[in-house]
Amino acid sequence: MGKPTGFIEYGRVNCPAVSPEERIRNFQEFHPPLSLEERQRQGARCMDCGVPFCQSGMTLNGMVSGCPLHNLAPEWNDLIYTGNWEQAYRRLNKTNCFPEFTGRVCPALCEAACTCGLNGDPVTIRDNERAVIEAAFAAGKVKACPPGVRTNKKVAVIGSGPSGLAAAVMLNHRGHQVTVYERSDRPGGLLMYGIPNMKLEKEIVMRRIRLMEEEGVTFLTGVNVGKDVKAQKILADYDAVVLACGASSPRDIKAPGRKAKGIYFAVDFLKATTKSLLDSNLADGKYISAKDKHVVVIGGGDTGNDCVGTAIRHGCASVVQLEMMPKLPETRTEANPWPEWPRVCKTDYGQEEAIAVFGRDPRRYETTVKEFAADEEGKIKKVITVRLEQKKNPKTGRMEMVPIAGSEEELEADLVLIAAGFLGCEPYVAQAFGIETDSRGNAAARPDAYQTSVEKVFACGDMRRGQSLVVWAIREGREAARAVDLKLMGYTNL
Ligand SMILES: Cc1cc2nc3c(=O)[nH]c(=O)nc-3n(C[C@H](O)[C@H](O)[C@H](O)COP(=O)(O)OP(=O)(O)OC[C@H]3O[C@@H](n4cnc5c(N)ncnc54)[C@H](O)[C@@H]3O)c2cc1C
Ligand code: SF4
Repeated sequence: MGKPTGFIEYGRVNCPAVSPEERIRNFQEFHPPLSLEERQRQGARCMDCGVPFCQSGMTLNGMVSGCPLHNLAPEWNDLIYTGNWEQAYRRLNKTNCFPEFTGRVCPALCEAACTCGLNGDPVTIRDNERAVIEAAFAAGKVKACPPGVRTNKKVAVIGSGPSGLAAAVMLNHRGHQVTVYERSDRPGGLLMYGIPNMKLEKEIVMRRIRLMEEEGVTFLTGVNVGKDVKAQKILADYDAVVLACGASSPRDIKAPGRKAKGIYFAVDFLKATTKSLLDSNLADGKYISAKDKHVVVIGGGDTGNDCVGTAIRHGCASVVQLEMMPKLPETRTEANPWPEWPRVCKTDYGQEEAIAVFGRDPRRYETTVKEFAADEEGKIKKVITVRLEQKKNPKTGRMEMVPIAGSEEELEADLVLIAAGFLGCEPYVAQAFGIETDSRGNAAARPDAYQTSVEKVFACGDMRRGQSLVVWAIREGREAARAVDLKLMGYTNL
């Protein structure tokens, strides 16, 4: 619970941030930790509220609020306050296999529901979580823990993103022999090749992979299941298969001129930068460079923001981010009370950096692309935008964003990055295993059982629920592991 009067005595203190002008010079994380004393005070702010909505992970008004992993935040906040760091780690480890990831990149659904946030600032739950796991690593408490007994059951996990890793770590601890197949050259899924290095340094991902290898998990990288290895062989060789392949089919922008050179999907741009950064510190030039280019990012969400931050680090000449929807309010409206997820305008790190470098917020709201214009060589030269307004569709009765006639504008563009969301999993994996997909293109599997339409094939993470969050991927991987264990053993203690 923390100190009974802590929330009155101490204010919220966030981890400091390196200034935008300084941090854009490299791709390193830029939130140095607080001192131990200050972190203990932040733990002390947890107020023993009695009903810890922070750990509920419940759906309110269509959005989830509180931690989907049901992390026991009040318990470890108290242990931080009293300086029992090892015990705090043990409690955290009960519900979350990878707090070093969520402690860095989670949007902190817990904090949105924190009771301290009802009348003031919520407890710094996410930063506390990161402090606990990093203290445990620093003290040598996070050790490989191979299972004492093996079950002689073999499980293949296809995909090494957070859901695949969570399933693998749990199934291995249970004693099953786990092999993780990954088509990329490095494991980690979007933790490795999506989320940029400045949000999650890749050594943090590899540190966990090495631990899992020590515990007995086998990683086979550079193997594309369904192409390099037949699904039938996997089904024949393993007792169960967990599909954790993500939701990587990108939504395209169907506008005239789309074939112009210089238009890329966001994840291709972000992946190439990270790969080149890791392979050669960008010396090999094998990435899509934004240097000296006028960049237009289509999509105002988090992926778009990552593109803005990355393009600025490349040294772009300008950057604009297009968002179809209107700007959200600065604070909660009456229709969106605590502890619902706050639908408010968030200025993320990339946008902060654009404001520092170019003097203005890169976002243009209620705007979309009408046309792409290329030069004589077919290279993108301009993006023609159009403003949108909300109108009721007389047929469906639903509100829609519709173009405003005559509102067209031209934007200079040498590089266009499409960050317009995802349309489910790539069909070839689902087809190779013969599993059914749902109307949104995701693997169809019951949320409580994770079982697909094919015997012994399970699905979890973004591949099952659609593009989501790391915290949800970890939860799904853990629950899928439980379902697989139940199937293999007839009971489960996971
Ligand atoms: C740019 C970007 C930034 C993001 N930032 C955040 C953030 O800050 N915070 C947050 O919480 N969430 C963030 N997300 C969302 C989050 O990364 C995902 O929800 C999460 O990674 C999903 O995990 P997953 O394991 O289901 O799939 P993924 O992480 O997508 O991993 C799937 C893996 O499967 C592999 N694979 C696919 N098919 C095959 C095959 N046939 N054979 C072998 N391997 C295969 C893929 O190569 C990939 O490595 C971000 C997403 C993107 C795109
Ligand atoms: S995983 Fe995310 S939602 Fe859960 S406690 Fe950590 S920061 Fe909060």
